[in-house]
Amino acid sequence: MPCKQLPLMYATGGQGDPERYVAAVKAKGPGVNLTFDDVLELEMERISAGMTRAERDVYLVLLGKDIAAFDVHQKIVWRDEKVELHLRKRLQGTQCSAPTCRKAFSWVSKKYGCAYCRLMFCKACMDSRQAGIIEFMWVDRPSKVCQQCFARISTQRKQLDRIESAAKLIADPAPWEPTHRTYGKAQVPSLIEKEFNALAGQPYCLTDCMSCSVLLSVPTARHSP
Ligand SMILES: [Zn+2]
Ligand SMILES: [Zn+2]
Ligand SMILES: [Zn+2]
Repeated sequence: MPCKQLPLMYATGGQGDPERYVAAVKAKGPGVNLTFDDVLELEMERISAGMTRAERDVYLVLLGKDIAAFDVHQKIVWRDEKVELHLRKRLQGTQCSAPTCRKAFSWVSKKYGCAYCRLMFCKACMDSRQAGIIEFMWVDRPSKVCQQCFARISTQRKQLDRIESAAKLIADPAPWEPTHRTYGKAQVPSLIEKEFNALAGQPYCLTDCMSCSVLLSVPTARHSP
C-alpha cells in the first residue's frame, strides 16, 4: 500500500520501474559527452523511477556505460576566474550571440560577456540579475550571465534541490560532494577547445594577451580527468 503522504513517484521506493530511465539513458547516446544539464535531466528520470544512485549504477553497468559520466558530482568542476576571463576574451564576436537578437556591437552598443556560456551579448540580452554558477563551483560568487544562462542555472538549482530531497525519500545515502576540481576537455566549448589545449599545455600565452600569468594556474590537459 503506497504512502498517501508521498508523491506516487517516490512511493515505489527501490522497486520502481526503471524502464523509462533506461530509455532516457539510451536516448542520450553513448554518454561520454553528456552536459551538466543532460546529467541533471537523467537524474530527474531516475528519481521519477524511484531508483537510488546504486540502483542506477547497476543499470548503467548493464548498459555498458561509464558510471562517472552520469554522476552529477563529476560535472561540477572548479573554474579559475582569471582563466575564465581569458577564455571569454577568445570568444569575442561582432554581434550579440542571442539567436533572436544578433544586434551588431558598436561604440553605442556595448558588448557584455556571459560568465557561464562565455559568449558575448548586448545589454538587453544579459540578465539584470547575477547568478552563482553551480557547475563552476561559483555558487557564492554571483556573476554576470545572459538571460538564457540565468534561466538554465535556476532550473539546475531546482533540479539539484529535488535530487537532494528525493535522496532522503528513497533512502539514498550518497553524499552531496562534488569531487573534481580541475578543468577537463568536456568543460570547454568545442569552439575554443584548441585554444584551451594550447593554453593548458603552455606556461605562457601564445598571443598578445595581458593575462599570461594566469596560465600558470591552469592544470595541464594531461592531468585533467
Ligand atoms: Zn550565457
Ligand atoms: Zn542582444
Ligand atoms: Zn594570455
